[in-house]
Amino acid sequence: MSHSDRKPHPSTAVLTAGFDPALSVGSARPAVFRSSTYVFPTPEAAERAFAILGGREKLGEGETADLIYSRFNHPNAEIVEAQILPLEKAAVAAAVFNSGMAAIMTALMAHMKPGDAVVYTVPLYGGTQSLIQGFLSMWGITGVPVRGGDSDAIDRAIVDTPNCRVVLVETPANPTLTMTDIARAVAAADKCARRPLVMVDNTFLGPAFQHPLALGADVALYSATKYLGGFSDILAGVAITRDPEVMRPIRARRGLFGNILAPDECWILDSRLPTVRLRMNRQSKNAQRIAEKLVSHPAVRKVYYPTLFEDPEQIRIRLAQCDYPGGLFSLDLHGGKKSAFEFLRRLKVGRNAVSLGGVETLVCHPRSTTHSAVSAEELQVSGVVDGLVRVSVGIEDWRDLLADFEQALDGAV
Ligand SMILES: *Cc1c(COP(=O)(O)O)cnc(C)c1O
Repeated sequence: MSHSDRKPHPSTAVLTAGFDPALSVGSARPAVFRSSTYVFPTPEAAERAFAILGGREKLGEGETADLIYSRFNHPNAEIVEAQILPLEKAAVAAAVFNSGMAAIMTALMAHMKPGDAVVYTVPLYGGTQSLIQGFLSMWGITGVPVRGGDSDAIDRAIVDTPNCRVVLVETPANPTLTMTDIARAVAAADKCARRPLVMVDNTFLGPAFQHPLALGADVALYSATKYLGGFSDILAGVAITRDPEVMRPIRARRGLFGNILAPDECWILDSRLPTVRLRMNRQSKNAQRIAEKLVSHPAVRKVYYPTLFEDPEQIRIRLAQCDYPGGLFSLDLHGGKKSAFEFLRRLKVGRNAVSLGGVETLVCHPRSTTHSAVSAEELQVSGVVDGLVRVSVGIEDWRDLLADFEQALDGAV
């Protein structure tokens, strides 16, 4: 390969792609363009911009679309969408949204209509589950739940469900980190007469450690509120595809729904992208050290963490599709809810809050919070027992975190 056609690595490209300082009066970091509307150089240019937006005319070679109105597109969305592509293997198009739920809702509604079905893995993020079971069902879309990690059942559901248009996989699953084989779900989708799209909620391990598009999935979905944002200070979502044709209806719906990420939030998210790998690497190393040490604490019944999997199929999936185990683990405490609450009460470094992926360590009790509305039967499937606490490990020194967890566990026996 000659020097000129050498492709930069992701950690370089995230800083060099998609941003031209000349368009921000030479500033080294992008300006924030807060305008709601854009001035056309000529009436003909306005006419052409709308024809392209409406799909009546196609962009010429090397031509870029004129900006029109910020509900459709704006420079800060374009910049962050271009800069996120190098981080996601096999990505060609990205769209940013004002929350993870907005990204998931828009991707599903762009590719489904009444009479269609979506096969989805459980446990699933609570909001996504409510979206499918409590909302899309009213609009004539059938949701077919299937247990995450159960590869045979997932194959059957994909092949046997009439009008299956989308397979939605969330892996690893919250809070037990059960993994689902993405490549195998793609292979099952390939067997269908009309191939459903495979969408993967990649919030927990992506974009650093898990690459759904490279495994054949069509859409990678993110709550960018979590690791991408990384500081627990913005709400954002992203949909990323490996085919521009899969992105086209998603963008069209976003323009209609008005759930594009605002310029200021785009700027914030963009400033977080160059460090997402650094942060996730540190968080994963911290979590692995701590999780593997806490296994032997007398207050702990079980630690859920990818390097501690015992089921051979789960170990196989982890080795096949994840580069590193990630920054989340859960502890099941012998003393049930009482011990779990005592543990939370005694933490000094970790904070008792839901959400995850920030630089600070957050700990929650899923049974009484994030999973409190879930039925007893589903709790059984998802392994959310009374003694379970979920930990999102931050970038603090792991020795301080371990000491904090140990003193809190000592008091929780
Ligand atoms: C948080 C989360 C969501 C929802 O994202 P928001 O940004 O809160 O809308 C979806 N999926 C997973 C796995 C999440 O953790």
